Amino acid sequence: MSVRPIVLLGDPRLRLRGEPVESFGRFLHNLLDDLTHTMRHAPGVGLAAPQIGEGLAACVVEVEDRLFELVNPKIVRAEGDDRDLEGCLSIPGYAAYVTRREKVWVVAQDRRGRRIKVAGSGLLGRAFQHELDHLQGKLYIDYLDSMDELISVRAHADDDEDDGTAAEGDGEAAGVLAPALG
Ligand SMILES: [Zn+2]
Repeated sequence: MSVRPIVLLGDPRLRLRGEPVESFGRFLHNLLDDLTHTMRHAPGVGLAAPQIGEGLAACVVEVEDRLFELVNPKIVRAEGDDRDLEGCLSIPGYAAYVTRREKVWVVAQDRRGRRIKVAGSGLLGRAFQHELDHLQGKLYIDYLDSMDELISVRAHADDDEDDGTAAEGDGEAAGVLAPALG
């Protein structure tokens, strides 16, 4: 298991569609392990295979200590709308308000190829939609009318330099403004 470099905006690999996974063996297992490791290291709440340069339909999402490994995922049902701030590990330093479905149901396969169905609302539902978009070569900035809608947020490296006293208020704001989904 290793931390892999995350592909950043401007790299054409980010725009490739993830090809359907047909083999559920060691290569896929290593890929899923690397995705989880890289996501946790970032940190983020999700990561899709194209973001580490692998053009396959596989992603991971982890919210509230629940890890989801989704292979060949597809949204089969959605309801409601929800508008919230959203960031992306491939577009560090920025976030924007994006309207998503409030709750989605996803059918996918697990690492052994077994069919699974999961549902998520709020942050989890948003993360599912964000990561599944990556598998179509789509980014959250594609939903914006203008790049002027991007909000600059502090990088995690800055947080590490905080002395933890005077920046208390800033820290809270950064927490709210750091929804790097994956
Ligand atoms: Zn992303």
